[in-house]
Amino acid sequence: MAGKKVALACSECGARNYMVAKKPDRAVRLEMMKYCKFCDRHTMHRETV
Ligand SMILES: [Zn+2]
Repeated sequence: MAGKKVALACSECGARNYMVAKKPDRAVRLEMMKYCKFCDRHTMHRETV
């Protein structure tokens, strides 16, 4: 599987909290609500290159 790994970074503090495998054909930018231990709450996480 040639899946690309991308990091999900908290949009509030910028911490890279999660690593996810991304399908190469996905053009959409990943965005999801995830728990950030630094912010101590759920925040929007976006993929970073
Ligand atoms: Zn955060």
